[in-house]
Amino acid sequence: MVSAVVSHASDCVTVLAFNPSNQLIVRRRENLSELAYLSENLATARANLAADFPVHTPPAEYYSVDAGERRMRVYFSQVSPAPLAGVASGELTFVSIDGLEKRPDKLDPLLAAVLASIDPFLIEVPYLHLGENDFIYKFRTEKSRNRGIYQLDDAASALYQSKLCAAIKALARTHERTAAAPVALDFGAVQYLLPSHFGFCLGVKNAIERAYETLAENPDRRVFMLSELIHNPFVNDDLLRRGLRYLQTDKGAPYLPNGDVARDGDGHAGETLWDSLTPEDIVIIPAFGATDDDKRRLVRKGVPVYQYDATCMLVEKVWKAARSLGQEGYTVVIHGKYEHEETKATFSNARRHAHAVIVRNLEETRRLGEIIASPDPAARARFYTEFAGKYTPGFDVNQHLERIAIVNQTTLLMNETLEIIDYLREVYAKLYSEAEATARVGGGGKRDTLCYATQVNQDALSRALSEPLDAAFVIGGKNSSNTYQLYRLCEQRLGRQAFFIQSEANIRSRDAVEHYVFPAKGPRIGHDHDTIEIHPFPTGGNPFRVLLTGGASCPDGIIQQVITRINGLFPAEALRSIDDVLADVERAANER
Ligand code: SF4
Repeated sequence: MVSAVVSHASDCVTVLAFNPSNQLIVRRRENLSELAYLSENLATARANLAADFPVHTPPAEYYSVDAGERRMRVYFSQVSPAPLAGVASGELTFVSIDGLEKRPDKLDPLLAAVLASIDPFLIEVPYLHLGENDFIYKFRTEKSRNRGIYQLDDAASALYQSKLCAAIKALARTHERTAAAPVALDFGAVQYLLPSHFGFCLGVKNAIERAYETLAENPDRRVFMLSELIHNPFVNDDLLRRGLRYLQTDKGAPYLPNGDVARDGDGHAGETLWDSLTPEDIVIIPAFGATDDDKRRLVRKGVPVYQYDATCMLVEKVWKAARSLGQEGYTVVIHGKYEHEETKATFSNARRHAHAVIVRNLEETRRLGEIIASPDPAARARFYTEFAGKYTPGFDVNQHLERIAIVNQTTLLMNETLEIIDYLREVYAKLYSEAEATARVGGGGKRDTLCYATQVNQDALSRALSEPLDAAFVIGGKNSSNTYQLYRLCEQRLGRQAFFIQSEANIRSRDAVEHYVFPAKGPRIGHDHDTIEIHPFPTGGNPFRVLLTGGASCPDGIIQQVITRINGLFPAEALRSIDDVLADVERAANER
C-alpha cells in the first residue's frame, strides 16, 4: 500500500469499492456518475459501504487528491458482489475504469479527480483481499491435482502420458527434493539414462491444469492467455486448438483479431485483441507472471485478474524478496534475461518498492562492477548507456549503487547467480572492507530466490552426467530458459554430442538432427525465424548410451516419443520391448 498523505482536520474520505472483476461501484444521479462512498470521516464512509456490502475488505488508504478547499483521502476496498437494493434499482452500478473515463462529460468532478490519479495504484486492486505474505496462487496438493486434463482425449494422452516416465518418477518419489541416482532404461543396443528428476514442475502443472479447466468451465466466454502459458509449443498449440487465444506475443507485441501481430508503423489498422477486451472476457496470466502495466490494463477494462492469475508461487516469492529488500533500502539487482517474461514481470514488480537493474550474466555484472568501483564521473555515466532499458526510471548511479541485493530469474543456473553475488561482494570489499561488503551486498540466503524445481532438475542432471555417456538430448521449448540451462550443463560435458531439441521431429535421420541455438528468434509461435543447426546424429559405442532429460515445461509424452524415435534408428532385432524395459523399472521400484 502506498500513502503519502498527511492528515489534517478538514480532510474528507472516499472509499472506492471494487468488485472481484475490478469494476468500481459508482452512484448514478441525474445522468452523472458520482463517488459512491464519500464522507467526512472513514467511520461514516465505511458504515455506508457496509450497509450496501456487508462483506468487504477493510478499506486501505492509497492516495489523496484535492477536493476544493480540502484534501480527499482515497481508500480501496473489495466487496463481495451480493445483489443489493441500490444495485438492483440502478442507483449503484459497477463500471470499469475505462468505461467511466470514456464519458468524461458524465463524471462528477470529484470522481473525475479521483480517477485522474488512480493509475499507479490500480495494480493493488485485484489483490486487496490478500495479506502481504499471502500468495496469489498456491501449488495444489498432489491430492487436489486435476489429472483428468492430461487424458482428455487421444491428443492430450499422446502429449502428456508416458508409462516409462511415470514409472521413473514413481521410482524417484521416495527421494523428493534431492538428486537421486539416474534411472537406466536398457533397450539393448541403446541405453537411456534419465535423471531422477526431469520435466514438469509444480508451477507448470498448476498453470496447465488451470488453463484446461478454465476453457472447460467457460464454453460461452472468450478465454485469452496474456501470452504463452509456458515455453512449450506443443502444450500451447493443444490449448489453442481447444479455443484459447493469445493477447500478445512473448515479446509483448499485441495480436490482431485475424492472428497477425500488430507492430508500430507496419500499416495495421483497427483494434487489437487487447482493445476488444470486455468484462465478459477471461485472461489467464501465465506461470511467469505479468508486468504491472499489463495487469493495470486488465483492471482498467474490468476484466477479472486474481481469479485467473496462474503466476507461479516461486516467481512470486522472488517478488516478495525484492519487496523486502527494497524496504530495507537495497537497490535490487535482478540476474535475468531482460527480454524474458518472468524477468520483465519481476522488474516491473520490484520497481514499486526499490530501484532495480537487470544483469544478464557475469560478464554484464563485471561491467556493472567497473562502474561501481570507478571514481570517474564519465565512467559512471556509462551506466546509462550500457544498461539502457534495464534500470528503473530516476536511477542515480551515484546514489543507487551504494547498497545492492541480488535476486534472480528462477530458471537460471544456480552457480552463475552465486558467482555474481561473490563477484559483487569482492567489488565492495575492495572499495570498502569485508565487513562493509557484507552490509552493502545484501539479501537473505544466497539460494533464496532460486526455484527448487529448477535446482532439483539441474542437480539430478549433474549427477547423471557423471555416468559414462555417448550423447545427450535435452528436450523443451526452444525459448525455454530452464531447458537451455540444462543443455548448457550437457554441452559442458559432451560438447557437440549434446543436443537441444523440442521433440522427436527434430531427429530427422542419422544424418540430420535439428539442434536449437538459444535464444530462439522471431515474434510468433511457429514462425520460422528460429536458429537451427543441423548436426549428424551422435556417434557412440555398443550399447549406445544416451542421456535424456526434459525442461520444466516438457511433457512426458514427448520424452517417450523421443525414445521411440531414437530406437527407430537401431535395428529392431537389437532392441528389447518397451514392456520389458518398463518391467525393469517397476521391479526396481518394488525393490526399494
Ligand atoms: S520452473 Fe520453478 S519458478 Fe518456474 S514455473 Fe516451475 S516451479 Fe515455478
